[in-house]
Amino acid sequence: MEGKVALVTGGTSGIGRDTAILFAKAGAKVVVAGRREAEGQETVELVRAAGGDGLFLKADVSKASEVEALIKNAAERFGRLDAAFNNAGIEGVWAPIIRQTEEDWDRTIDINLKGVWLCLKYEIRQMLKQGGGGAIVNMASIIGLIGSAGVAAYSASKHGVIGLTKTAALENAKSGIRINAVCPGFIETPMADRIFRAPAAHKYFLSCHPIGRFGKPTEIAEAVVWMCSDRASFMTGQSLVLDGGFLAGPNSPG
Ligand code: NAD
Repeated sequence: MEGKVALVTGGTSGIGRDTAILFAKAGAKVVVAGRREAEGQETVELVRAAGGDGLFLKADVSKASEVEALIKNAAERFGRLDAAFNNAGIEGVWAPIIRQTEEDWDRTIDINLKGVWLCLKYEIRQMLKQGGGGAIVNMASIIGLIGSAGVAAYSASKHGVIGLTKTAALENAKSGIRINAVCPGFIETPMADRIFRAPAAHKYFLSCHPIGRFGKPTEIAEAVVWMCSDRASFMTGQSLVLDGGFLAGPNSPG
């Protein structure tokens, strides 16, 4: 990633923050995007502490005008855009469909799915303007590959991200822009902390990971940085699962 420019949305915490730091360690200049200024600046400090160059740009990924301005400003400030991790997302309100509100459905889809579509649109335009080439990773989830009771909007949004990833990859393969997705199991981040407020949820989801623990943000970041690097040059349109064995099959009690 030496000399390349990488963008991370939702870089203000969790998996996004660790990926920004790892991009910097790999030699990239990092644009950290998010809604929270103070947390974004903290990530930039961590990027600099890792020996890299970075800047924070405020943007809500569900708003077209803000995403357009984000990509324009990122390219102006660092000269180009080579890699992007469309990571920003929310868990939404977990409730059965019959109790879910239209407002929560709209908000979850707007951020998790429309947000990724908006980022792709302006990132790809920028990469094409540069003459093609580049790599994008979209954040999906194992819940983008299987259903999960009580999580309809989140699951639909993440399934959507996988379809979007395949389509974007096909549309841009000849331009040398590789587009993939990552599907983590449960990872120890502020989002997981919110989900695990109910001890029963923590115990149940831990039992779904045959490896016996949840993942760490850096374990996802490693894969994302690799997928954005030339070492993954033949990979496009794929969804990489990193889940401690969650999807391999039912875990046995023994
Ligand atoms: P997190 O809450 O720490 O990170 C999410 C980040 O996205 C935050 O910084 C948040 O401020 C930002 N964000 C939310 N809405 C935004 C918006 N409209 N515009 C810009 N930024 C916005 O949690 P995380 O676990 O690091 O989540 C990162 C991504 O990973 C999410 O898309 C999530 O769905 C996905 N994911 C997480 C897990 C997990 O177990 N933690 C598993 C699979 C997938």
